[in-house]
Amino acid sequence: MKKIYLSLVFILLSVTAALTTAGPQWLRLKGAETEKFRYMIEVPVTNPYQMANYVGWLHQNEFDVAGFNWKKKQIEVITTNDGIKKLEAAKFRGKIISRRGPGGNNEALDPRYLNPQKVEEKLKALNARFPNQTRLEQIGTSFQGRPVWALLISSTPNPQTAEFYQKPSLIFDGMHHAREVMTSEVVMDVADSLLNPQIRRDPRWKILLDNWNIWLVPMLNVDGNNIVWTQDKWWRKNAHGENGGTYGVDLNRNYSFKWNACNGSSGATGSETYRGAQAASEPESSALMNLALKVIPTASLSYHSYSELVLYPYGCKGVFTGENALLSKIGVELAQILPSDSGDGHYTPGTPWQLLYSVDGDSSTFMFGEFGALAYTFEVNQEFQPPYDLRDPTLVKHRKAWAYFLNRMNQNLLTVKVIDGKTGQPAQAQLTIANIILGQGEKPYRTNFGGYYFKVLDPGKYTFGVMLKDGRKAQFEVEMKGAPVQQVITVN
Ligand SMILES: [Zn+2]
Repeated sequence: MKKIYLSLVFILLSVTAALTTAGPQWLRLKGAETEKFRYMIEVPVTNPYQMANYVGWLHQNEFDVAGFNWKKKQIEVITTNDGIKKLEAAKFRGKIISRRGPGGNNEALDPRYLNPQKVEEKLKALNARFPNQTRLEQIGTSFQGRPVWALLISSTPNPQTAEFYQKPSLIFDGMHHAREVMTSEVVMDVADSLLNPQIRRDPRWKILLDNWNIWLVPMLNVDGNNIVWTQDKWWRKNAHGENGGTYGVDLNRNYSFKWNACNGSSGATGSETYRGAQAASEPESSALMNLALKVIPTASLSYHSYSELVLYPYGCKGVFTGENALLSKIGVELAQILPSDSGDGHYTPGTPWQLLYSVDGDSSTFMFGEFGALAYTFEVNQEFQPPYDLRDPTLVKHRKAWAYFLNRMNQNLLTVKVIDGKTGQPAQAQLTIANIILGQGEKPYRTNFGGYYFKVLDPGKYTFGVMLKDGRKAQFEVEMKGAPVQQVITVN
């Protein structure tokens, strides 16, 4: 995969060549099909350069690129009659693998997959069963008025107490995109796994569960997923509409950090990557942003489908974060834990622009840019709605990956407690780390409301600056050696 982005020049040259290569014809549109039909199309590719070119072209031309499968050497696109004509005109070749007519959900989803109602029922049942280990919060209300839920798993699950803020927070989310049904399953499985009494008795797990606040948002796009179950199994966006119509906003292009920054989203309401009228315009993305602003996450794991990727910031072409060494290292480690569904190789790690195309206003970019959180997006499986038989193997492999991630972070965690020297009380403060360059407008690091700051750092020496709200400052050095470090800094 690395070769995909070896040479931009070569890519540009080969676009022209690839698009003019003659190949097999389309399966022709049937006469009876109406303008309202939509199609899933396989576009074959012969090499990674061509795949990168095609994906780039399709994205630039506002096609709904469902995913790609390098092992099967194909890109999958969802489009309309007009889209097919446009592809033909551009000399693409390919074949229609599935078509959907207007109205009915003609290929029903496996009813065992979670829907918004089942997720709500499960969360309420878990909260009732484990009142001392969980807290259930409605973090928002969707465009159509459905609740958006978050479940906190913690040995101190009360954000009104000082104990709560003595721990770092990790946020899991699923179902930004309505049709990605496996993603809610993965996030709910985190709850089922961590609340399992056997797991809780395991001393290795007990350490992690005692040390972390784990937030789960398994079903962010409640309205969109409802559309998938009732009207359109290929629906991606939320249910934003006006004057009786629904066009939808792509929630994962609506976040406030780098919103509309680099042609990684669309301003057209009809586009599958419509970013919304303004940053944070949507109640569902705002719900996750507000949760994060409350807990100041140390890490974020976001689940999408599909294509078997481990993505990390940034989404904008050519832009890396100042922590790319750590992000890419852990990205490689996570990808190695995740074998592909076909059993042939593993997930592929990289930034979105390296592996797909530029993306802006996405949740991982927000979590990194706003909080410096270690933020990963997983693209699970090789299709949006795989046979339900694939659910258990998917949960098992992702359980290994997130468990590894939690352990990995815990082993390299710096905890800073900031004390106001005048009062002797914990204080809120901004922090800087001299070794880490924030060159993309990132927010300064900051403590949570309890005066604690948490950061996962590679082994090495780090120089910190701390500043209280009234401008008093202090500096300190920390050496990380692959074990947790706790530092108390009093600012006089
Ligand atoms: Zn997605």
